[in-house]
Amino acid sequence: MEGKIRFAPSPTGYLHEGHLLSALYVWAAARKWGLQIHLRIEDHDRGRARPEYIDSIYEDLEWFGFRWDSQSIQSARTALYEAALEGLQKRGLVYPCYCSRKQLEAENPKSETGEIVYRGKCFLRHTEALRSKAKTSMDTLVASRLRCDEQVSSALRCDEQVPSALRCDDLRQDFLRCDEQPHNLRIVIPDKVIHWHDMRLGDFNENPKLQCGDFPIRDREGQWTYQFAVCVDDIEEGITHIVRGEDIRSSTARQIALMRLLGRETPPLYLHHPLIVDPAGKKLSKRERAHSLRQDRDAGITAGELLGRVCHKAGFLTNCTPLSLENAISIVEQSL
Ligand SMILES: [Zn+2]
Repeated sequence: MEGKIRFAPSPTGYLHEGHLLSALYVWAAARKWGLQIHLRIEDHDRGRARPEYIDSIYEDLEWFGFRWDSQSIQSARTALYEAALEGLQKRGLVYPCYCSRKQLEAENPKSETGEIVYRGKCFLRHTEALRSKAKTSMDTLVASRLRCDEQVSSALRCDEQVPSALRCDDLRQDFLRCDEQPHNLRIVIPDKVIHWHDMRLGDFNENPKLQCGDFPIRDREGQWTYQFAVCVDDIEEGITHIVRGEDIRSSTARQIALMRLLGRETPPLYLHHPLIVDPAGKKLSKRERAHSLRQDRDAGITAGELLGRVCHKAGFLTNCTPLSLENAISIVEQSL
């Protein structure tokens, strides 16, 4: 099979055991399905991404022996995101949202998973503004038509132009005022069920409009959101397979919907892998996630020992024995 898979960590900290397990799944899937591997540094969150974390991703992966075919970094791709945004804006699919966090909490229902489902308050405001703008230009058109038909004097025409010019100005002022206020940009998501398949978890029928509603593609600080950057990248980089942790599973339907709006009809193939859990079945704690692979490396633990430990914690090994990268990938591959 021809295709491309990506490993896409965010440089907001050092790589931890969860990343290592995800990398093993990606490299295992690439081997099983004969895919190229693309390394994407997802530094869309400029507030949290740090240069030392970026460098450490390359270093840590190389230390384990991972090799990849191509790489990219989101901060170098701003022009692509802007072009994609412009395309959506031209089609009227983007609108500014001025709601504060407090308003969002108070005015919108929550989904089963506790996520805010945005009901589109600012969409209504936006379409109202557009409608009145359209009406104003229609009024101007009708007025000028009447003027022509009636062949009124030029003095009278001037008088008549005043009110509509005023209306336009008022509206423009209103728009300017709003643009100065902090706002994010939301995408108009169709109210439609997305049918998608996960190679491990089976079939899903989900409607993003009910899961989260129209979601932000650019935040109040002008930064691209994860959802937007990832969709533009997956399309532009020709990603055919997405293998990632099941904590991101709920993003899939909305990403498929957004990719369709961006022009990619056939979504990638998906597999969401299990996460490392503690014996009680709970996800890695914040403290465990904060514990980086390089801390272990600096303490003298070998790459083989770390690979063995992660495979053990993920349930692939009954004992915590050291593994070569080759063997670790093979063990994960057998589970696919
Ligand atoms: Zn809003």
